[in-house]
Amino acid sequence: MSNAVPGGATSAPEQEGHRLPTNVYPNLYELAIKTDLIASPPTFSGEALIHLDINKDSSEIQFHYHKTLTITHISISTSDLKTTSNLNLPLSNLKLNEENDFATLDLSSLPGGGLKQGQKSTKLFFRFESELKSAMHGYYRSEGDPDENGKKPIYGLTQFEATEARKAFPCWDEPLVKSKFSISMIAREKNTSLSNMPQVSEKPWKAPSNASIDNVFNENYELGSLLGGSVQLGKVEGQTEGKTEGKTEGKTEGKTESNEEGWKITKYETSPLMSTYLVAYASGEFVSLESAHHSKLTGKTVPLKIFATKDQIKQAQFGLDIKKWALPIYEEIFDIPYALPKLDTLVAHDFDAGAMENWGLITGRTTAYLYDPEKSPLSAKKRVAVVQCHELAHMWFGDIVTMKWWDNLWLNEAFATLMGELVILDRIWPEWKPRSEFLKTHLQGALDLDSQRSSHPIEVDCPDSNQIAQIFDAISYSKGASVLRMLASVVGEPTFLKGVSIYLKKHIYGNAETKDLWAGISEASGLDVAKIMKNWTLKVGFPVIKVEESGDGKIKLTQNRFLSTGDVKPEEDETLWYVPLEVATLDDSGKVSVDHKATLEERSTTYDLKGNDSFKLNAQTVGVYRVSYEPERLVKLGKEASKYTLEDRVGLLSDAATLARAGYSKTSGSLSLISEIVKGGEKEYLPWSQIGSSLSKLNGVWWEQSKEVKEALSKLRIDLFKPLIKNLGFDSKDKDELPEIKELRELVISTVAAAEDSEILKEIKERFEPFLKSNDDTKIPPDLQRTIFVNSIQHGGLEEYEKLLNVYNKPSNPSTKVDAMYALTSARDKSLLDRTFKMMGDGSVKDQDLYIFFFGLSANKYARRHIAEYFIKEYDTLMKRYPDGYGVNYLVKGAFSALSSHEDLKMVKDFFKDKDIRKYKSAVAQTCDSIQAAADWVQRDAGDVEQWLKEHKYL
Ligand SMILES: [Zn+2]
Repeated sequence: MSNAVPGGATSAPEQEGHRLPTNVYPNLYELAIKTDLIASPPTFSGEALIHLDINKDSSEIQFHYHKTLTITHISISTSDLKTTSNLNLPLSNLKLNEENDFATLDLSSLPGGGLKQGQKSTKLFFRFESELKSAMHGYYRSEGDPDENGKKPIYGLTQFEATEARKAFPCWDEPLVKSKFSISMIAREKNTSLSNMPQVSEKPWKAPSNASIDNVFNENYELGSLLGGSVQLGKVEGQTEGKTEGKTEGKTEGKTESNEEGWKITKYETSPLMSTYLVAYASGEFVSLESAHHSKLTGKTVPLKIFATKDQIKQAQFGLDIKKWALPIYEEIFDIPYALPKLDTLVAHDFDAGAMENWGLITGRTTAYLYDPEKSPLSAKKRVAVVQCHELAHMWFGDIVTMKWWDNLWLNEAFATLMGELVILDRIWPEWKPRSEFLKTHLQGALDLDSQRSSHPIEVDCPDSNQIAQIFDAISYSKGASVLRMLASVVGEPTFLKGVSIYLKKHIYGNAETKDLWAGISEASGLDVAKIMKNWTLKVGFPVIKVEESGDGKIKLTQNRFLSTGDVKPEEDETLWYVPLEVATLDDSGKVSVDHKATLEERSTTYDLKGNDSFKLNAQTVGVYRVSYEPERLVKLGKEASKYTLEDRVGLLSDAATLARAGYSKTSGSLSLISEIVKGGEKEYLPWSQIGSSLSKLNGVWWEQSKEVKEALSKLRIDLFKPLIKNLGFDSKDKDELPEIKELRELVISTVAAAEDSEILKEIKERFEPFLKSNDDTKIPPDLQRTIFVNSIQHGGLEEYEKLLNVYNKPSNPSTKVDAMYALTSARDKSLLDRTFKMMGDGSVKDQDLYIFFFGLSANKYARRHIAEYFIKEYDTLMKRYPDGYGVNYLVKGAFSALSSHEDLKMVKDFFKDKDIRKYKSAVAQTCDSIQAAADWVQRDAGDVEQWLKEHKYL
């Protein structure tokens, strides 16, 4: 595989060799996992009794396990009509290919030379062990915050998606290979163990002294009996590191327990058929809150719990409540009951992703599930709601019906995003306007990423785990959800959801792929959905629709692929999308009507405006495309904008700014549109947020322009935003203030402060002062906390820094900790910045949080070059710290993507030229595309912007 920085979409190596053969599949895993949290380092050991279906005569079988897992015993039992034979296999029969985690087990020593097709009662036994590493993948350990004695709670939990179950036990680690799971957890008596299914029994446990591998297939063998003694890491006789050769005695090691504290074994019910990536378990000192879901469909009650460490449980109530509110709505929409007898959530201190939809045991970060009604900002509340609703959607979409392979990951993620972050949110919290906010949280991000040359189609070939890990991106989540939203608007949302229900019922407990979803929605709608959607999911990119006015009451509309660098080559521009045009027209009385029937399916078409002089495409911004108007039309639309909807204004502003950045139009045109919309009296948060984001992108890329130009850009922002503060103030006027007012206030004050308005900075200083001097935070409204923290360090000194370092070390809630991180990264003073950089490598920053430091530092123009240099200097250390590559994706973007010159681009490309970037190839390509687009933009439009600023008296 090439290590060079790629210019195109990811190429697809041969699928061959990346999928397990189908000759033997498991149908049931019996697992016993023993967790020793007191051992140093903490360890786990386990036994797996895997029941197999033999589909073909086989003299060897293949499955997955990872080299970090040490297999110590293997045995197999088979029977035909007459006899049963049990055979202990030497470890030398097992060969591991470390490249793809494929293990091959030689079974030729079985009577008859192997397994026979259809052979009944074939069971495979493994005993295995490993360190419980702080890896955030596989079965790993997490550390809580220190208690009053400075002791940190330690616990174990799993994260198996996408291909990490193989780090915890030997398995067929592919989503298509569904099995039942019967799990037992062995833990210290004081610990609570959790798994996907409800507990059936819990009793004291002691390893029987006479346990032997010779009787693991006996009826009365209790799984886990060989797990006595402490794990001797790396001490398996004859085994070299990462390989399983040689031989181990088939007996318990008979070592003494690491201490006298007692053990217990907890058994769980057997699960329904489930993919390995959804298996979960955990063990530690947890406490819980409990509520219940009463299913209208089944009449049954499903207990709902949320688990956390003792110090955090009081902030978990809201996270728990959401399950109770959302489950009945999901059941009603899908017309399928929640499938398991219980649903737990576990809040974790170390978590790589945001959260994970393990069936019956959802897990996630503290910021994803903890909320303090007194002290947390609205954004934290929304985050908990969004994440919990997203994961709950997966209980159906993903968990009951699972994609066949990772190339259809988008089916899981796009759907959970659409349901959890739009449909359900809109039913529970309509006041948050989630339908409109979707433009900001997903559509824009999707269009941004997908406008890069390095983007990939929604359905993307991903043969191996390197590629699989990289498709958990805005294309699978946000573009996927955006095209589903567009489809829902074409067929109507109730019909869309009916089609989804048909799809789920048809594939319940099984696997499916994209065409199956289209078939369900086609059945509900009578439309050929596969034809409409084909190029949206199978082809990279999206179109820009060019509008040309001929003056005869007709417009010519042409579609072409849109690239952020504005340099589409003919061979990149061959796709024609099915584009719902959604033409909105404005009549003389100011009434808007929308033509929902018009589509563009060819390269171009003409559209008759039927005498209307005022029109706009992509009404409500439902389409996944950009619209490029003639400059005069854009000015006219700016003046009429208040007559169109909020979503229309957001779309207009966003299209204009993006097209200017890509060179399809001038930045001055986008600035004039902003002026017009502000002059029209814009009041709503989302258009203002779009204006803020367009100007902050301009400001970010213009960071190395002259001081005068930068000051003029600040004046512009102050001029536009500051007048709003008069009405908004710093404090809420009443308790029931609308959410969007809180958000607008936060946006306006942070923007004016970023533009360094002295009056606002003075007020921020005064509000921070009581907190600094006497820990009195009553003058710091939760929604403004981040802005106040960040500006206090930016314009303060050592005292402010020390104060917020304390907050970071002892935060009152998870979002406050994140606010403190952003503050520590926004220092301007070199000695303070040096301290922040030092923290990143001295154990003060959790692996899960390092990317926040990177993003904070890259947003700080006093640290932007420094963070790029840091990445280069610390490259080897960072690679060791994130061996799986997941975290590195964010670090690459954080380190480099705010740079904006052609020299920077060359520097980044040169740096990665000789590196093995397989695990974060997309991040490098996307970063290079961003720098290129920014560098081209500033080169092309610096004069145009300067001119506009002069004309408008800012310069
Ligand atoms: Zn998800």
